[in-house]
Amino acid sequence: MTPADYKVLLVDDDPTLLLLLSRWLTVAGYSVRTASDGQEALDAVELECPDFLITDWLMPNIDGLKLCQKMREMVLPHYVYIIFLTVQTGANEMIAGLENGADDFLTKPVCEGELLARMKSSARVLELERQLSLMAHTDSLTGLSTQRSFYELLEKEWHRSRRSRAPLSCVMMDLDFFKRVNDVHGHPAGDSVLKFVAELLADCCRASDTVCRYGGEEFCIMLPDTTENDAAVWAERARARLSSLRIPVGLSYLNVTGSFGVAQCRKDTQNWEELVDLADQALLCAKRMGRDRIIRYASLADAAEPNLVGTKQRDTIFADQLARDVMVPLTICPRATDTVEEATRAFLRQGAPAAPVLDDNGALAGFVSEKDLIMAMVSPEGRGQPLSSIMRSNVICYEEDTPASVVYEFLSRVSIRGVVITDRGRPTGMINRGTLLRWFQDWIAGKHAVPPPAVPSSCREDNTTDRASAPIPRSRDSEPAVPAAG
Ligand code: GH3
Ligand code: MG
Ligand code: MG
Repeated sequence: MTPADYKVLLVDDDPTLLLLLSRWLTVAGYSVRTASDGQEALDAVELECPDFLITDWLMPNIDGLKLCQKMREMVLPHYVYIIFLTVQTGANEMIAGLENGADDFLTKPVCEGELLARMKSSARVLELERQLSLMAHTDSLTGLSTQRSFYELLEKEWHRSRRSRAPLSCVMMDLDFFKRVNDVHGHPAGDSVLKFVAELLADCCRASDTVCRYGGEEFCIMLPDTTENDAAVWAERARARLSSLRIPVGLSYLNVTGSFGVAQCRKDTQNWEELVDLADQALLCAKRMGRDRIIRYASLADAAEPNLVGTKQRDTIFADQLARDVMVPLTICPRATDTVEEATRAFLRQGAPAAPVLDDNGALAGFVSEKDLIMAMVSPEGRGQPLSSIMRSNVICYEEDTPASVVYEFLSRVSIRGVVITDRGRPTGMINRGTLLRWFQDWIAGKHAVPPPAVPSSCREDNTTDRASAPIPRSRDSEPAVPAAG
């Protein structure tokens, strides 16, 4: 850095001194502006933040000390090094100056050599401060904003959007199965992928948007003046570009996908951190629905639904129950290759209103409901087509060993009515709100019921639940769940 890289604001009510100091500094290469009192100086700082503020102590209206205090209270883009000009610096004056944010003192009459020498040594301090600030605000791998600096910007934007009633949206993106990239191609290849992805996201943004590396392989994007719908359009464009990006790794190319959660600041959003949390909740759903997709928070939110039990009661009720303890086991599980007609017969046999659809490997491929079937059954072509062409792929699934309280929490917060429960990717049951209500009913009945007499283990049927080991009754209700996104 040379003197030309530093902007100096000189403040003194003595025009002769102002002229003299200004000349010395300008000849030395600094870029200099002047102000004749504290208020003029504050106006100049608002206009353009200087690197150095050299100010007289005694001035009309706002004196040097007050100016220094005000400067330290302002949110400025970078640190300003403040030097006081004083006729005589007594210990008390010095202490007051330092306590109010001064960095250095120059005694009048000022000597040119001392002024320039102090500027040089102060520039070293500023340079270090800039480097530290850069490290704190810029991610060293991708060059994007860090989470910390993102939150600073988001906080400002949140206040601005509240004042101006302009929409503000946030997108959270997490790369899919990124661990595999590291495992298969090595950590350096993973790093290179992160750089390409960061570049792509930044390239998708407007100048007013901010992308940050939120952590690991997760990115967060702030979109000011953007509604959730428009943010979803943005995210879909970014998702499509990402999935078609060919990233050079060694001699070949690699493809990655990402899952996106989109949220707009709502009336009841308490603060900027909550906005990020909403986008994160939507991202979680995008992951659960199978990844490489975008989910809008509004499509999940069910504002009308109050939280009926507090976290503590919920944890007491569910204790260590898992999803498998609460779910209704599947009664039918059609294949994606089955025709609509075949599936309809199975649905009628079992009286099921909805069911997950499996792929050839027995893994969850989608979800089909009676409603989907009746719409396809009206035409001969519809009846003969495979379920894969009518099923919905936006299914939320949880593994069997997920705590039941997590599924409860999810279903009480979103408009989705039910979820599919899987065992290592294979559907085994469903939980919907009806299932949970019946489970609550059973739980209440179980709590007040007289315990049944002990039955010798040799007399038990293979498929009976051991009540001793399962104090909270398991819902055996066979009414199927009604999952799929609302
Ligand atoms: P999911 O689709 O559920 O997000 O799966 P995932 O594998 O992407 O998620 P998981 O959280 O299991 O793994 C994230 C991986 O990201 C693990 C971690 O090693 C890797 N990772 C995080 N930061 C970096 C980094 O700076 N460089 C590299 N190369 N890898 C990173
Ligand atoms: Mg990931
Ligand atoms: Mg992650």
